[in-house]
Amino acid sequence: MATKTKEKPVRKEGMYEVVMNQFAHAADLMKLDPGVRKILAKTNTEIEVNFPVRLDNGKIEVFTGYRVQHNNALGPYKGGLRYHDTVDLDAARALAIWMTWKTALAGLPFGGAKGGIHINPKNYSKHELERITRRFTYALGDNIGPDLDIPAPDVNTNPQIMAWIADTFSSTKSPTTRFANLHVVTGKPVGAGGLAGRDRATGFGVVANIKSWAKLKKFNLKGARFTVQGFGNVGYWTAHFLLKEGAILVAVQDASATFRNDKGIDPEALQAHSDANGRNLKGFKGAKEIKPDEFWGIKCDILVPAALGNQITAANAGQITARLVAEGANGPTDIEGEAILKKKGVDIIPDILCNSGGVIGSYYEWLQNKRAEIWKIEEVLVMIQDKIDTSFHKVVDAAKEFKVDWRMGAYIVALRRLEDTYMDRGIFP
Ligand code: NAD
Repeated sequence: MATKTKEKPVRKEGMYEVVMNQFAHAADLMKLDPGVRKILAKTNTEIEVNFPVRLDNGKIEVFTGYRVQHNNALGPYKGGLRYHDTVDLDAARALAIWMTWKTALAGLPFGGAKGGIHINPKNYSKHELERITRRFTYALGDNIGPDLDIPAPDVNTNPQIMAWIADTFSSTKSPTTRFANLHVVTGKPVGAGGLAGRDRATGFGVVANIKSWAKLKKFNLKGARFTVQGFGNVGYWTAHFLLKEGAILVAVQDASATFRNDKGIDPEALQAHSDANGRNLKGFKGAKEIKPDEFWGIKCDILVPAALGNQITAANAGQITARLVAEGANGPTDIEGEAILKKKGVDIIPDILCNSGGVIGSYYEWLQNKRAEIWKIEEVLVMIQDKIDTSFHKVVDAAKEFKVDWRMGAYIVALRRLEDTYMDRGIFP
């Protein structure tokens, strides 16, 4: 069994409150049809499963998993699975609702869902995680499926976990339909039907958005200083691609430690250290370790929250010096934190736009599996870039039209699409 790591406590409460507050504000601004507003204010389905797994020591432990399906007006439910001890029904609900806005904004034929297991995966061995994942998939049964609900990676889940889900789901179906079920999940390793480039899609998309922002604001990314909270999939790839633009990573924080180096931190060295150290940055030698609270006040041009929700709050927003907050994470800024940033004139690229590269990549993986094709990474990144650019400009235009910030602009674009769909299609029966 892996050694237990001490993680700093997270404020988990309130994400649902934040997303509903944002929704209500946007619905008022755009005068969303009252019937559609009632539908979108609720989730369609909320699933809680308790399932037993035998651990390596022979004892049985019962785990609790969730899948919340918010809305599928535009297509099958889509959204990640998170393995974390902040996972509960409320968190899954909030994150599922954000997924509906995200897929609608990105112009994808998907709805929104989210889920996961209430667990700290660092406390379990690889074999235990495999059994937990397979048994969770079995417990979800036909509540997921390639044309119904398609999970993907999120916090503490990865391509390996997605491969176990795909294999378990397919193995419980008739062998004649095995490959018709490959796209039950996205974010798989390339060898198991995954998409070349899906690993970097979210960070690539974050940087595509930052590049559009820089162009709009005539800001030179060369030499720009940036900080990243969370150094997992999104944090690492964002740092990797921002470095290619000539920007300098001056501080980084994960659950285990916080580091600064004004001369720049090498994301590749950080990643190598993290990989060798159980996905923890603690002990990294290429920068000075500082106290976690000092992270927010570090002088920078761009801040990328890429960890959990509700990280930028009244307690730290006042210290932020960045001109831009690019929300790699889902729901990283709470209501009070956002009000403070806005007062200071900080630009925010909202999560549903900023991190949409991941679900766009997932869409192409789903399509690749459906069509039994295999695409090159270069083609994939061009397609992701194109969709992000389109969304970015739609958001900027909507924000101008309604004289609102980009978050509200993004919501308006997403809600308009959902409203049009309900108006065209009507309600059964
Ligand atoms: P990950 O598990 O790969 O990495 C999470 C990182 O956050 C780790 O470095 C972890 O140490 C750090 N972290 C956890 N708690 C922290 C805390 N309290 N303080 C500081 N750091 C902390 O997860 P990920 O896939 O990179 O996801 C990060 C965020 O991006 C999440 O909000 C997720 O919903 C969002 N997101 C992910 C994707 C994707 O494709 N993976 C897509 C869209 C959005």
